[in-house]
Amino acid sequence: MTRTTERVRHELRFRIASVVSSERITPRMARITLHDPDFSQFRSDAYDDHVKLFFARPGERLELPVAGPNGLDFPGTRPQGRDYTPRSFDTGKAEVVIDFVLHGEGPAASWAAAAQPGDTVGMGGPRASFVVRSDYDWYLLAGDDTALPAIGRRIEELPRGANVLAFIEVADEAERQIFHTPANLELRWVFRSAGERLTEALRRAALPPGAGYAFIAGESAASAQIRDYLIDERGVHPDNIKAAGYWRAGEADFYDGHQH
Ligand SMILES: Cc1cc2nc3c(=O)[nH]c(=O)nc-3n(C[C@H](O)[C@H](O)[C@H](O)COP(=O)(O)OP(=O)(O)OC[C@H]3O[C@@H](n4cnc5c(N)ncnc54)[C@H](O)[C@@H]3O)c2cc1C
Repeated sequence: MTRTTERVRHELRFRIASVVSSERITPRMARITLHDPDFSQFRSDAYDDHVKLFFARPGERLELPVAGPNGLDFPGTRPQGRDYTPRSFDTGKAEVVIDFVLHGEGPAASWAAAAQPGDTVGMGGPRASFVVRSDYDWYLLAGDDTALPAIGRRIEELPRGANVLAFIEVADEAERQIFHTPANLELRWVFRSAGERLTEALRRAALPPGAGYAFIAGESAASAQIRDYLIDERGVHPDNIKAAGYWRAGEADFYDGHQH
């Protein structure tokens, strides 16, 4: 059986979307549903796709950018951009749902904490999708709350018969979410409030036999550490791991190219 990954490129599209609704699915996670007529053509083929959200600076209005020689050119001051995962989307309703960790200060977290129906946010992408086929013997998904949208989407999208091991680090028990999936799911929540860490939870876990694929995302140093551990101590081949830094402690607007 071939086990494959594939990168698919998409035409770059940009919209200014409106908030339809905002709910707290857990105390620290806001689920925001966005609408724009262009979302009837929204395309996101992979669970860890990302869009770039743009937030207007105080006193400024969001305006559509134009494509320039060095990427997007915004009229006036460039708005602040941050990466987020399309948690789900509905092309029929022209809606995209984003889950935001309410971690405190930052243009994205502050915007999400206060978002009301009718508020607007810019959205570019996804520009590409990294598709991991569902023919591996098992899937390991490990990450913190910022990876929870990607991990939750993957858990829900994997088909019947797929074997999934998920390790999710969140602040405390109130941050647990419920997933509905036809796959065989083994799920471990790791609570920072109890002094637990992802790496330690992984050390205690047995990996199933056969060829697996690991997706790791979250705080940059933590993701890199788990990747090294899987390669050095669990014998997972680097080609069968995607490890991404989604944020870095103490650094605003962190960017690592999204992949180690
Ligand atoms: C490909 C990709 C997909 C992502 N998907 C999601 C997603 O679906 N949902 C989501 O919530 N996040 C997601 N993230 C992470 C998100 O982009 C970052 O957390 C981002 O820094 C948030 O921007 P901000 O404006 O709130 O804070 P920033 O202005 O970037 O940072 C301000 C301060 O907050 C700290 N900080 C940032 N994030 C966190 C955090 N989670 N916990 C604690 N401190 C933090 C920074 O270190 C900095 O000190 C994704 C990141 C990537 C690269």
